Amino acid sequence: MTFDSNPYRKDFPILAREVHGKPLVYLDNANTSQKPQVVIDAVDRFYRETNANVARAVHSLGEAATSAYEGARDKLARFINAPTRDEVIFTSGTTQAINTVAYSYALPRLQPGDEILVTTMEHHANIVPWQLVAARTGAKVIAAPITPDGELIVEEFVARLTPRVKLAGVTHVSNVLGTVNPVRELAKACRTRGIPLLVDGSQAAPHLPIDVQALGCDFYALTGHKLFGPTGTGILWARKDLLAEMPPFFGGGEMIRTVSFDGTTFADAPHKFEAGTPNIAGFVGLGAAVDYVNGVGFEAIGARERDLLAYATAALESVPGLRLFGRAKEKAAVLSFLIDGVHAHDLATLLDHEGVAVRSGHHCAHPLMQFYGVPATARASLAFYNVREEVDALVAAIAKVRKLLG
Ligand code: PLP
Repeated sequence: MTFDSNPYRKDFPILAREVHGKPLVYLDNANTSQKPQVVIDAVDRFYRETNANVARAVHSLGEAATSAYEGARDKLARFINAPTRDEVIFTSGTTQAINTVAYSYALPRLQPGDEILVTTMEHHANIVPWQLVAARTGAKVIAAPITPDGELIVEEFVARLTPRVKLAGVTHVSNVLGTVNPVRELAKACRTRGIPLLVDGSQAAPHLPIDVQALGCDFYALTGHKLFGPTGTGILWARKDLLAEMPPFFGGGEMIRTVSFDGTTFADAPHKFEAGTPNIAGFVGLGAAVDYVNGVGFEAIGARERDLLAYATAALESVPGLRLFGRAKEKAAVLSFLIDGVHAHDLATLLDHEGVAVRSGHHCAHPLMQFYGVPATARASLAFYNVREEVDALVAAIAKVRKLLG
């Protein structure tokens, strides 16, 4: 199998490798995506030619490193249509981004009896940080329900936006169900009530164009390694006025204006939130990833993924005894499923022997697993570099597993 029908595959060197003597069929993109050669080269070139610390050295390498790092911020700001680059804070990923909002924005404000509203389909990264600050303040985390098809019940979300709610959080795209949430509508409902909305864009950024101004949210978090960039990179975007009011979460070098033993004054955002030496090469790589994605274009990405989703849904539905989770009308190419009598982990292990990489487990979404009454699912998550033949390989491998276990 060469999967030549997709011109983008050749950009991703790892896709040419074999696993257990079979061509790799990588269907675990929601977990982390693969990296194009241009990203690998950007990181490699940075260490070969430019490596120095940022914002500290006035020598040539220091200036070049700072300009490459800050250049990546410009690219990310344009990628999400941020009104200004100063609203883009580099983080190690979505987890750090949401924790920054939890500790810098929510913690100083929360009072006993306050609420943070999320949804049943959130990743733990959009639940646990809120629980940690709620536990310290006497606030509580509440969740808006979803339908069995995996769609957020918008009226129920809106009904929970009472004056007790001090912040709401929603995933743009569910990592388990693929559901694309109506963020604009939710943001409007929050805005009219004066409640800030945080959007977890981890799973949206690789699939949809992001425009934080059009969405109308207040905070937007995304992670670089799902966006074809290096691990340990991500961003928090927040409105300038909110950032100005937020105290820093981490203290240290690079985030101050003046320091004395009588007190410290802080730099403005974004540097106020970027204490210490950052993952410089990683962000240079993330900038290259954004250039690459822009080059492919979301029109092409969307068209390929819609085709793959329709094809994969029909193919999996034809498998006897297979239960598919997540049938939202607006859906990204993520397919969670279980097969009668086969544990998700056994399935994923046996599929791996056929070269097919899928994730199994709770997907860091325990409340969602509890909603469906299952401990785990298997999940095939597709990217624009996947091809129909890989879906065929998945279905053929599942048939083999069923035969083996049946
Ligand atoms: N939110 C969602 C929806 C995710 O899918 C993930 C990763 O799986 C995260 C948050 C956490 O991202 P990271 O581990 O890169 O911080």
